[in-house]
Amino acid sequence: MNKLSIIVPCYNEEEVISRFYKETNEEVLKIPDLDYEFIFIDDGSKDHTLDILRLLCYQDKNCHYISFSRNFGKEAAMYAGLKQSSGDYCVIMDADLQHPPALLAPMYRALSQEGYDCCGGKRIGRDGDGTLRGLLSRSFYRVIQKLTHMNMGDGNGDFRMMNRTMVNAILQMKEYNRYTKGIFSFVGFETKWIEFQNVQRAAGKTKWNLGSLFSYAFDGILSFSTAPLKLPGILGIFLFLLSCFMGVFALVQQIFFHHSMGGLYAVSCIVIFLSSLQMLMVFILGEYLSKDYLENKKRPIYIVREQN
Ligand code: UDP
Ligand code: MG
Repeated sequence: MNKLSIIVPCYNEEEVISRFYKETNEEVLKIPDLDYEFIFIDDGSKDHTLDILRLLCYQDKNCHYISFSRNFGKEAAMYAGLKQSSGDYCVIMDADLQHPPALLAPMYRALSQEGYDCCGGKRIGRDGDGTLRGLLSRSFYRVIQKLTHMNMGDGNGDFRMMNRTMVNAILQMKEYNRYTKGIFSFVGFETKWIEFQNVQRAAGKTKWNLGSLFSYAFDGILSFSTAPLKLPGILGIFLFLLSCFMGVFALVQQIFFHHSMGGLYAVSCIVIFLSSLQMLMVFILGEYLSKDYLENKKRPIYIVREQN
């Protein structure tokens, strides 16, 4: 019999966790011939989340919990859950019921019968989120898509079911600064998308504010793209061409029109030229740094999907 591990990062979710367990348990019991386990990760909650989890795990032998010594963030919680999981399939779900448990059955079907390695929930609409957050998120996903050339579309969240091969590939990515949306895309595999309507969280508050969202967006770009390190190169070339143009312009004025551009002009020209050299040197340093940066992550060089 196949086993499904349901991985649930929880940070201050006392208001919703029991309801999440009840509704998800009902849905998973509807899937025939499936063994399952819940792995709740208490990410250093300051409310009664851990007490509720202890009780749940005492009452139901299919429930397990891990409690962090402090808040390490959802990325760390997801990694811990995947690492502890023993299922043939793993699904990551938010505790706030924004990831509909009713999708578990079609996701499981996609993996067990339709030959997919992964089935992701694709969120449609942003009803639960504010207008500003929606706008910023959409712009961010457009930028990151361009910079990384990877499929990290808006709405493709962490709600996905994966088979063991894909989970093991994700666990091979041991980088400290984790950006799981990028990691999913990096490891590849055949993914089916099932759309679902965005809903407000069932209870409690979102853990994100504008500052943490910006920092998450920045982390995402830095984790999967070294494009920002190329900016000094672009600026350097621009300044170099500008100084050349200014120099030629001054020479033409001097030779053909016997008109001197003056000392201030000459000084500006030299300053711009020297700045361009500095920028180009920074760019070269950045190129070495970016190679070392990627090397340091020790990502797998290839990932096998199947072999005989
Ligand atoms: N979460 C976590 N650690 C954190 C922040 C969030 O484990 O530091 C969990 C949270 O309990 C929830 C999921 O990650 O189960 C998504 O969080 P949230 O609903 O606040 O994010 P949103 O849905 O607003 O993007
Ligand atoms: Mg949520």
